[in-house]
Amino acid sequence: MLPRDLASRLFEDLRVLSCEEMEGRATGTAGAERARRYLEERFDQIGLEPLGDGWRLPFELGDVAGVNLAGLLPGREAGLGWLAVVAHYDHLGIVDGELHPGADDNASGVAALLAAAAVLARLEPRRGVLFLAPDGEERGQAGSAALVEDDALPLERLELVVNLDMLSRSASGELWAAGTSHFPELAGRLRKLARRAPVALRLGHDRPDPEGERPDWTEESDHAAFHRAGVPWLYFGVEDHDDYHTPGDTFERIDRDFYLGAVETVIGLLAELAEEG
Ligand SMILES: [Zn+2]
Repeated sequence: MLPRDLASRLFEDLRVLSCEEMEGRATGTAGAERARRYLEERFDQIGLEPLGDGWRLPFELGDVAGVNLAGLLPGREAGLGWLAVVAHYDHLGIVDGELHPGADDNASGVAALLAAAAVLARLEPRRGVLFLAPDGEERGQAGSAALVEDDALPLERLELVVNLDMLSRSASGELWAAGTSHFPELAGRLRKLARRAPVALRLGHDRPDPEGERPDWTEESDHAAFHRAGVPWLYFGVEDHDDYHTPGDTFERIDRDFYLGAVETVIGLLAELAEEG
């Protein structure tokens, strides 16, 4: 269970990131800059450490500047490999005069990343955990592609990447965990997690499906860059909904119970993995 103070903070972070002033957080906009300032302040409050001089890892994206954010929670045992939690903070912005707030996509993942950081910071786990908030996911996953090439990121230290992209609503009440068909050694752990999870946690969406019923999401979000770089990953997210990539993806329409359950499920896994040697 997420402690009460962190649960209310989770919803507050989601609300702020998807509010009007953030202008839908499109890459290269003033709204994205406001989102970054907010996230930097939260990283600092939680007690994360920058990888180098600051939280920002800039990259070029055509005519605009993209900025990834990274914060590290050092582990008790310096020699162990790190976990990485990834959640893109950018969204579509204002399109044809209409605000696309991107509450589920992906303020929900970023607020979950902050909650995970806060929980793990209190636990002081054995393993270091790196928190990555890429920009430019909505522009061809440009931020994560730049991250895996960034010299500031010691890719070889990463044992597992856990990508969070859309966690806050599901008509069927299902949270999907993708990746175990590529990394079958993780399947048993996830099935165990599913048995005690407060949401219906299902494994899949990670292999070709000629029938088209359960599309392969291996290339569909920021875990793809890590996949190509040979880093094991898991992706947590929901099926697309009617408000996906529309002005209707608002804070008011998230399913609070489902979201809280999804976040607790993911944090349960992270806490377990971070404590293992
Ligand atoms: Zn997304």
